[in-house]
Amino acid sequence: MSAPDDLTARVAVVTGGSRGIGAAYVRALHDAGARVVVADVLEDEGAALAADLGDRARFAVLDVTDEDAWTALVDDTVAAWGGVDVLVNNAGIANAGPIEHYPRSKWDAVIAVNLTGVYLGCRAVVPTMKAAGRGSIVNISSVEGMRGSRGLHGYVASKFGVRGLTKSLAVELGPHGVRVNSVHPGWIDTDMTARIDPTGLPIPLGRGGTPQDLTGTVLYLAGDASAYVTGTEIVVDGGMINNTGHL
Ligand code: NAD
Repeated sequence: MSAPDDLTARVAVVTGGSRGIGAAYVRALHDAGARVVVADVLEDEGAALAADLGDRARFAVLDVTDEDAWTALVDDTVAAWGGVDVLVNNAGIANAGPIEHYPRSKWDAVIAVNLTGVYLGCRAVVPTMKAAGRGSIVNISSVEGMRGSRGLHGYVASKFGVRGLTKSLAVELGPHGVRVNSVHPGWIDTDMTARIDPTGLPIPLGRGGTPQDLTGTVLYLAGDASAYVTGTEIVVDGGMINNTGHL
């Protein structure tokens, strides 16, 4: 029997896998033995990452808001590697503004990628996971899926939505052996957060996070170590969400 963190022979798809935290998930899943599809709109970075990893990695152009692209991605992956065992719905964007100056276009853009994209991804992989009688979907939410945050209206709404969708899917898909969980990062050092200085944040562990701080959680949820875990949420934020509002 293989170790619970051994993902050999598993097939994983990571959206937004070309850079940032997604690229760290790709490398970690690959290191654990999985075959990994790097799925992203960023072609050069994604193709370079897949080429660097070699035979057990493929790059696929995917805009997560595009239903037909999802169908093609799953069909191609099943044809090449036989199925999809793990889906990490990581692709995301952020925008902000006070509500009177937060136009419908910004709201629509962030909901489309961060929430509708997750829904489309789950819908696309579920048939092959059900057929296999197993699967793990890891939805990347945020600490902003657990609290309010000034100006981040669409982002917060999308990340709460991801948290809720995770739970309804977990209930529905559990009888089919498909687990669905959400991950809630705090401040992590990527292009998305480049304009935020983490030194002012109330992080009990005393530092901002790195993409590598997230990989253990995603590997755990992807593999058999979490075989009895579904519908849950794991916060990976250095303790920040606990450290607000004290006298
Ligand atoms: P990033 O901007 O570095 O990477 C995001 C990736 O998603 C990019 O590769 C981008 O090309 C891809 N992407 C964007 N729109 C896409 C689309 N329509 N289709 C396919 N791919 C698309 O950001 P990151 O910090 O690595 O964020 C990754 C995830 O983690 C996001 O969902 C983000 O909301 C979440 N998150 C990040 C932080 C943080 O502090 N960095 C905190 C909490 C949650």
